[in-house]
Amino acid sequence: MKAKTWLVNLVIVAVSLTSLSVLSAEKPKIDPKKMAELEAAGFETNPEVFKQLSTGGQPMGRWKEGLTFDGIEPMPWLKSATNWMPGTEEIQENEIRVTFMGSSPLPRPGQMGTSVYVELGNGGKFIFDMGPGSIANYLAAGVPLNQLNDIFLTHLHWDHFASVPYVYMFGGWAGRWHEKLRVYGPSGRTEKHGTAYAMARMSEMLTWHKDSFDIFPVGKGWEMDVHEFPFDDDGGIIYDKDGVKVSHWRQSHTEDGASAYRLDWNGMCVSFTGDGRPNSLTLKYAKGCDLVITEVQVELMSISSGVSGVSPLIGRMTVDTSHNPGYAAGYLFNKIKPRLGMTTHMSYDSYSNPELYAQVREKWKGPFHFGAPDMVVVNMTPEKLWVRESAIPEYPNIAAPKFDVKSQGGLVIPAAKYNRADIQQQSIRDAEIPPKKYYPKGYAPEQITEWPTDKPLFIPVEMMKK
Ligand SMILES: [Zn+2]
Ligand SMILES: [Zn+2]
Repeated sequence: MKAKTWLVNLVIVAVSLTSLSVLSAEKPKIDPKKMAELEAAGFETNPEVFKQLSTGGQPMGRWKEGLTFDGIEPMPWLKSATNWMPGTEEIQENEIRVTFMGSSPLPRPGQMGTSVYVELGNGGKFIFDMGPGSIANYLAAGVPLNQLNDIFLTHLHWDHFASVPYVYMFGGWAGRWHEKLRVYGPSGRTEKHGTAYAMARMSEMLTWHKDSFDIFPVGKGWEMDVHEFPFDDDGGIIYDKDGVKVSHWRQSHTEDGASAYRLDWNGMCVSFTGDGRPNSLTLKYAKGCDLVITEVQVELMSISSGVSGVSPLIGRMTVDTSHNPGYAAGYLFNKIKPRLGMTTHMSYDSYSNPELYAQVREKWKGPFHFGAPDMVVVNMTPEKLWVRESAIPEYPNIAAPKFDVKSQGGLVIPAAKYNRADIQQQSIRDAEIPPKKYYPKGYAPEQITEWPTDKPLFIPVEMMKK
């Protein structure tokens, strides 16, 4: 009898470990013989109790729970319904994952400059803006530096593209040897106000940096494909590849050239307005979008000025010339009726968050979530949408570069362009303290001061580490 009790007990424990939520909401089907055994062993056998165990507190189709909305629920393949841990989940074939790699105009430890990362089930990856510090979140999320490419700039305010020079330089160094950096962005009021001009000057600004890294293999790393589109070609398609379409329209944001984007793939759509005033063009061109992300400013001018010291007049004028108030975000969402409306490019502050919710909610009663602070993640399929926080390390290292070796049967490592002698005076190298003076006795690592060949290298796939 004792042994039998132990056995039955084990069955119960095993069920609870499998998670009670998977018990059927229907009348539990338990073998009558087993029930008799349980009863004899002194266990509760009332089927009603079993039913309560599996359904208590859970709607399971019996009622609509809380204020949640249809289709807003976690997908079964998520490792955790509350946190995304980078590197632990594959994007499903019909899924879009959107990560807020930066969420603020004001970079601060919990919020980097604006950046929205869109990953598709077909392997496509797209960066919308890349503000100051957002690079840190990309790296913490395990995105290899050499795979940061296809950057779409909404406009040329520094809080939207300060991480681009970093990606340009360190991506080239870390393995983006065979691909140019691809940047998409609007033209401007004059040639000098366009994306091509800004990127060409950025490259010039980095002359010293490029030369110094040219003692390493870089290949095409310093080359750029800048796709500048006419800013006023509202609705124009600027990317059309592998079933992905990206289109744009103007935003009223102080100066001509500011743009909003929309990405369509697999019957789903994500739009990101960048910065700008409440815009009737957004109603037109973001129509039908599943996920609509807009910038927002909470209207608390006098309180905010007390908090940050910005004069209420400047605060008021900044919003009224350039930005999207919370009430207007709600208005936009209510007109477009997305499956989920999100606001980003906002200060995530406990004093203003409840106010911002209330302002958005004034006109929009549907699904809404902040695209802030950093590393808010959205998973979206045609049926479901779910928003989580990420768990990322504070001191991550960079992910190993990833290469497409299949197409060529191996990896080509380009030749380096310079030796140190080409770009540095001999006398400063002579002034280097000889290693034997600082290394311990018997410790003498071979000094590698030049790339070992002036020819490109080909490493066949068979020779590479699996
Ligand atoms: Zn901005
Ligand atoms: Zn701006």
